[in-house]
Amino acid sequence: MSDITTQNPVENFIDGKFVKNDLPTLDVFNPADGSLISTVPLSNSQDVDMAVQAAAKAFPAWSTMTLKERVQIFFGYRTLLEKNMDELTKLVQLENGKTYGEAKAEVEKSMELCEFAVSLPQIVVNEIQEVSKGVECRIERKPLGVVASISPFNFPNMVPHWTIPNALVLGNTMVMKPSEVVPMSTVRMAELLKEAGLPDGVFNLVNGGKEVVESICDHPDIKAVSFVGSTKVAKIVYKRATSTLKRCVALGGAKNHLLVLPDANPTMTASNVVASMSGCAGQRCMAASVMVGVDKVQHIIDKMVEDTKSLIPGDNLGSVISAATKERIERYIGEAEADGAKILVDGRNTTVAGKEGGFYVGPTIIDYVTTDMSVAREEIFGPVISIIRAKDLDEAIEIENGSNYGNAAAVFTESGGMAKQVMERASAGMIGVNIGVPVPREPFSFGGWNESKFGVGDITGRSSIEFWTQNKKTTTKWNPEAQTNWMS
Ligand code: NAD
Repeated sequence: MSDITTQNPVENFIDGKFVKNDLPTLDVFNPADGSLISTVPLSNSQDVDMAVQAAAKAFPAWSTMTLKERVQIFFGYRTLLEKNMDELTKLVQLENGKTYGEAKAEVEKSMELCEFAVSLPQIVVNEIQEVSKGVECRIERKPLGVVASISPFNFPNMVPHWTIPNALVLGNTMVMKPSEVVPMSTVRMAELLKEAGLPDGVFNLVNGGKEVVESICDHPDIKAVSFVGSTKVAKIVYKRATSTLKRCVALGGAKNHLLVLPDANPTMTASNVVASMSGCAGQRCMAASVMVGVDKVQHIIDKMVEDTKSLIPGDNLGSVISAATKERIERYIGEAEADGAKILVDGRNTTVAGKEGGFYVGPTIIDYVTTDMSVAREEIFGPVISIIRAKDLDEAIEIENGSNYGNAAAVFTESGGMAKQVMERASAGMIGVNIGVPVPREPFSFGGWNESKFGVGDITGRSSIEFWTQNKKTTTKWNPEAQTNWMS
């Protein structure tokens, strides 16, 4: 991985420049082998304020450029993502521990998110109507001002792109707070945005943890906060940001249920369920976490067990993010075992030769889980699937509906009627039919229900246009007549 540009120590990026400081730091590790790769500053409220001031200074010029002019920068930026694909992919891999293929898919998705942003001039067309003789009403979408975006560790490149292209193309300026665990991908983004011609101050990076997030929520000059992370922190951020009268969308954790019916295609279903639970080492908010096996599905479960044999930790199965995460996942498996569940495939105590310092958990399938067990209720965020047996579809849907999360749910069946029931009755924002990871592609928007998302609207796609803008309504009168009525 010698061809990657890494920053050591990682610095904040404010007003178009990297900022040297003597803040306390946190070590950044490569989770694939446990080696130290950099340090990240733990910034404070003054650093946030510096970034907000830079963003506020950049806002008047940036927001009064035309949409088409702003878009040109993101055409260039998308090309730079493509040109630097290999390097960006290796950077994600280095700091997150996922496989090369998974990291590359992430950067490709970032390009798709830019493609949506550059199509905004085709979508954001202001409205105008002559409402009575000589009197026109128009609605224009205007940016909000300085906005903030806070991201988690599991998609260091893609999740920041859920917000950066749309928010900036729509005329806002931004303060970004990446996860302190994976701060390096956003450093490269800042460099590439500048190379694409983004004016100084439009995009600013403040590294750190809780203190930065709290300062963002409290800062009086930030108009909107978008957050992606765990439900625990999403609740804190949503409450704190809205208590200072900001708009906020806060995406939280997940516990996605896949309902498998006995008529499902066994090969396709088994491979989809296994891929969904193990992709990115299970550290996806769209990962399968519970499989509800309806009636006679033993043949599909047997096939899943078989399929896990092709998953090789350190090769096509990446690491989890930290030693503490590995310990937490293994604790959940132990609890399930102690509670009487049957471990069909056990990923505990996995090590990889030559990468003994890495944090690996092998694929894990737990059968005969009951709804009261911790593995049935809580987010595990590892390559683990819990199988709950249900007698019929009604019971399966009831189990899915019982979760306090609601990011995704999927059904595997050959029956249109059964699939339709799940589409209608599952309590989740994103539904899959014979698809294990039902991520909506642009222009469809991304966002869950229940405790998987707080706030109105979704974070990407058309829905995000509403979040990043406010409507200005203007009524004009151009008829020369003196006579007035209620409309004039
Ligand atoms: P996290 O909640 O620990 O951290 C997310 C962000 O919040 C980070 O930038 C972190 O610095 C900050 N933070 C952490 N603790 C804080 C606190 N007490 N106060 C204020 N800020 C705090 O999440 P994570 O471990 O980085 O990411 C994994 C979680 O993210 C999982 O729960 C996963 O489901 C979720 N996630 C959800 C989605 C979605 O679309 N719903 C997408 C990706 C990840």
